[in-house]
Amino acid sequence: MEIITRIPRMMSVARDMRAEGSRIGLVPTMGALHEGHLSLMARAREMCDIVVASVFVNPAQFGPAEDFDRYPRDLARDAELAFTKGVDYIFAPSPEDMYPKDFVTYVTIEGLSEKLEGLSRPGHFRGVTTVVNKLFNITQPNFAFFGRKDAQQVIIIKRMVRDLAMDVEIVVGPIVREEDGLALSSRNLYLSTDERKAATVLRRALEKARTLYNSGERDAARLLAAMQVIIEAEPLGRLDYVAITDTVRLDAVDTISASEPTLISMAVFFGKTRLIDNIVLNGEL
Ligand code: AMP
Repeated sequence: MEIITRIPRMMSVARDMRAEGSRIGLVPTMGALHEGHLSLMARAREMCDIVVASVFVNPAQFGPAEDFDRYPRDLARDAELAFTKGVDYIFAPSPEDMYPKDFVTYVTIEGLSEKLEGLSRPGHFRGVTTVVNKLFNITQPNFAFFGRKDAQQVIIIKRMVRDLAMDVEIVVGPIVREEDGLALSSRNLYLSTDERKAATVLRRALEKARTLYNSGERDAARLLAAMQVIIEAEPLGRLDYVAITDTVRLDAVDTISASEPTLISMAVFFGKTRLIDNIVLNGEL
């Protein structure tokens, strides 16, 4: 495994691999790797000849009051973990190389980026789609692997790939969870012991919605109300949003569709830490 920090080196490796006919898989991450990231790397290892995992805490996707500065960074640990999954190259560029002083080009997916997460995190998806675009250009992947944990990100990236005719197939991995149901996240490291216990409330609320849905409830307002009751009963949690939407336009639905997938997504604050989770009813993303 090689750790590449310079863009030209990564581009020349990717060019050579593609010229040889190798299928390149890219797993974009911000590091602080956990089993969620590693499951995507394992999937990439199965499907591709060459696996590239990028580790880049992308300043463009953080708001000014967000956790860019304190986001956990440990490249040596990340490299060891990635190695265990058979990753061939870690691409870990510097922010200065990715965003040189005169950088002015951004990719925006209009409409979708302003909803759900975008309401609370203005500019977030512009940062995501711009960096993913640049990572695709640098690493030339045939396949790129993303987790359903970030459901809106998956929907937006798939739309970008389709709208801009990008020659890469997006592969979506399932959400990897702790035993008690909490979705793995690098941000779980921020939680105090009590907050960590309380954080299962996201999963509990989503499972309540699924149970109601499975027993025949199709009214979105009733599912939302039941989830809100559960979240409000958790004193350490503060609901940012919970929404029931379609998976194409991300518009709120009144009645859960019998034929189309439906996304239930939420964000909850524990102190300053903001956690997200979701389920998809009646299909996949
Ligand atoms: P991040 O490092 O948070 O930017 O995440 C990098 C990739 O890992 C994204 O595609 C995430 O959706 C994915 N990911 C993060 N957490 C999980 C998880 N618990 N299960 C599966 N994939 C995840």
